[in-house]
Amino acid sequence: MSFLPRRAPLTGAALATALLLTACGGGGDDTGSGEGAGAGTAAAGGETLEVITSIYPLEYLATRIAGEHAEISTLTSPGADPHDVELTPRVVGHIGAADLVIYSAGLQAAVDQAVDTQAAGHALDVSGAADLLELGESESEHSGHDHDDEHADHDDEHAGHDHGPEDPHFWLDTQRYGQVAVAIADQLGAIDPDNAQLYRANADDLIADLEELDEEFQEGLATCETRDLVATHEAFGYLAHRYDLHQLGITGISPDAEPSPARLAEVSAQVRALDVTTIYAEPNLPEDIARTVAQETGTQVAILDPLEGLTPDSAGSDYLEVMRANLESLRTGLGCS
Ligand SMILES: [Zn+2]
Repeated sequence: MSFLPRRAPLTGAALATALLLTACGGGGDDTGSGEGAGAGTAAAGGETLEVITSIYPLEYLATRIAGEHAEISTLTSPGADPHDVELTPRVVGHIGAADLVIYSAGLQAAVDQAVDTQAAGHALDVSGAADLLELGESESEHSGHDHDDEHADHDDEHAGHDHGPEDPHFWLDTQRYGQVAVAIADQLGAIDPDNAQLYRANADDLIADLEELDEEFQEGLATCETRDLVATHEAFGYLAHRYDLHQLGITGISPDAEPSPARLAEVSAQVRALDVTTIYAEPNLPEDIARTVAQETGTQVAILDPLEGLTPDSAGSDYLEVMRANLESLRTGLGCS
């Protein structure tokens, strides 16, 4: 019976407070953080790992791979902008007490910092396994999102942004996402060797699902009237790269950037030149920017979900479902046959 020595288990009360985190109940035996004995019982069972993930895409992987062997919580609340998540001291403390923290360095400064100070010995940074591309490489066109940078001719460089030089949205590429799944399975197996084979098998199942999804995208996007993908939040560089689309982002890599009127006028001119029919907005953000450009250019607004979080408004109940909804939205908006 392998089980790593765990730190003092959180009491139910501490857990309830600590988990402003969204418990996603990977463990099935979600004993309910309101009950004093709940969390203690799970810990005393000696089988359940306490795993914290930074964003939904990593939560989904951890849930699929660890199954009932982990209690998984996520640092980014559903619907919140993951790019500027803030962590309370209690959550930071919880990061220190977890068995494993799974995150991607460079995406969320607060998480990077909390891991550095609290979880150096028990964190998995997946950015290496994701093999991140530099922003310029991911076939996307860049606005740079601080927009004090004049204009930028969109075929060349983006300007400075607070993300560092790499595009963090690796989960929108099924292959990179699968590589990360393997890294998570390996890490869970290292922590909990008795279940290592199970974790690896679960990762393989997941990868098979991703390959099936990838085929659907390949086929679904093979023949389209346009390959230009105009999105507000520039999250789709990897997806564009993989399926030979060209992304034009309006706000840049962080969704909260406010484009200037000059930028909007410029985007509108580009959109007219591209002859596209659809501007993609995302579910958790106001559609104002997309609507402005759409009105300007006589195009329509459709939803494309960067899957940074899952909410009741999401077009599916998990990664695979939302990705399939994205595919349908792309096929309609790009005129794919
Ligand atoms: Zn993003």
